[in-house]
Parts: sequence; structure tokens; C-alpha cells
Amino acid sequence: MSRIAYVDGQYVPHRLAAVHVEDRGFQFSDGVYEVIAVRGGRLLDEILHLRRLDRSRSELGIAAPLREAALKIVMREVIRRNRVMDGILYLQVTRGSAPREHAFPKAATPTLVVTARRGRPPDPRLARDGVAVITIPDIRWQRCDIKGVGLLPNVLGKQRAREAGAFEAWQVDAGGRVTEGTSTNAWIVSLDGAVITRAPDHAILNGVTRLALVDIIRREGYELVERPFTVVEAKAAREAFLTSTTADLLPVIAIDGARVADGKPGPLSRKLRAWYFDHVRAA
Ligand code: PMP
Repeated sequence: MSRIAYVDGQYVPHRLAAVHVEDRGFQFSDGVYEVIAVRGGRLLDEILHLRRLDRSRSELGIAAPLREAALKIVMREVIRRNRVMDGILYLQVTRGSAPREHAFPKAATPTLVVTARRGRPPDPRLARDGVAVITIPDIRWQRCDIKGVGLLPNVLGKQRAREAGAFEAWQVDAGGRVTEGTSTNAWIVSLDGAVITRAPDHAILNGVTRLALVDIIRREGYELVERPFTVVEAKAAREAFLTSTTADLLPVIAIDGARVADGKPGPLSRKLRAWYFDHVRAA
């Protein structure tokens, strides 16, 4: 089946889909994006993703490429044309194409690209056995709350993780505190049973999965503490896990080669994962 992409008002064959060479996304990473899970043909937590896209865009002064109602139609049409029941929808908005100059162009129309692809949830073995993470210095900029397309530190970090045989790299700030993974949020469970994750400050992306889980943890009556935790704390934690749209919730069983607790997925991580899937099914 041939894939279809939406580029600036047109549905085009995926292999021919292109933006201009002077698109500012291409030249300056001057753009923002979202990845939304498609489950059973429906967009999971669509409103939260669209809200975050709007926020990222507004923080950078990029105009809305379409009104929300029209954008929602395009998103559904891309899913339909690609016959995606389970997979992801990718959405990118850039400041548009203009002669190359750093300052904003006077008149540029934002570029909108929407693609979708089929994909399975992560290998169930990852959830069953847990995953390993390494830690690396966080070398990103100071506005990681904006979901910008400039992902070079994330790309390099994920590659380091792969080369170390780990699933993810947890980025660490100058104070030895974990910010987040290269494409996931980071969590631990302390010895007294509190769930700890960094507050949504400028050092992390406020994950939509993170937000869903924050609600679940509160609803189920567990103690949630939104504060940074150190690598030392994480290594001594009772449990650790990570979350994202594509990874769902995966238990972390080793950090830099050191086991977390007994090196097996923890009971609370398992429970939270099950509740998260209830949320996915109910969405
Ligand atoms: N942090 C970063 C840096 C990410 O790229 C992602 C993935 N978008 C996340 C966290 C998790 O966000 P979400 O749960 O919305 O996928």
C-alpha cells in the first residue's frame, strides 16, 4: 500500500513528499512537532497533544498553519488514507520557507506536514523484563519544555544508549539530577513508596503520557512528588520506570549497569502500566 503525506495543503505520495530547501525547519530547526499514538484508529490524548503543539508554537511566535477544526480533519484524513489502526501520527509545523536569514522573515507562511505510519506497541518483552538506561550529561538548551525539532543532543544520546546496549539515556543536569530521557520522561519510586518525577519546568518536555500518569497516580491514592531526583537516588530507588507515547510505560531495571533493587520490574510499575492501558482503552 502506498503511503500518503500531507504537505502544505496537499495530500501527496509519501515518497514524493518534500518541503522547500529554504524551509526554516530544514535550515534552522525553526519548527515544532508532535507524535500522537493511534490506537484502534483513534488518536490517543489528542487534545493534550494539540494543546502542547499550540504552546510550543506560541512560545516561538510561529503562526497557526490551520484552525484547530481543520487540523483535526487533516489528521483524520491522513490516518484514513494510510489505513492506520495502530501506529503513530507525526505532525510538524515550521516557521515556513524564506530566504535564509536568522531573524524571523516578515512574511512567511508556516509549513505544516502530517504523516502517519502503522506500528506496533513496544515488544512485550521490554515491559516483562524491563529495560536498562545509561546516564549522560544533559547538553540541551534551556527550553526543553518546547517540543522543537532540533533534536541533535537527543539523537546523540539515544545512539550512545544503543551502543551501550541500553534502551534509553537519562540526561543529567549540572547538579547530578536527572532531567529526562532522550525521548521519554523519567520516574522513580522511593523506598517509602512515593512516586517521584521532575516537575514540568523548562528542563523537560511535559509528556502527555506523564500527564496521564500523574492523574492515575493521584486517583489511585499514591503519593506523587514532582521534584528532581539524582542519579544516586535513582540507583538506590525501589523502582524506576520511563514513559512516552511510543514506549508507553517501561520498567527500568538497570542504571549505568547497576541493578535497580533486585533487577526486576517493580510491582508499582506493573500496576501503573496496567492502569495506563485502561486509560488507553477508554480514550
Ligand atoms: N521527553 C522528550 C525529550 C521527548 O521527546 C518525549 C517524546 N515526545 C517525551 C519526553 C515523552 O512525551 P510524550 O509522553 O508526550 O510522548
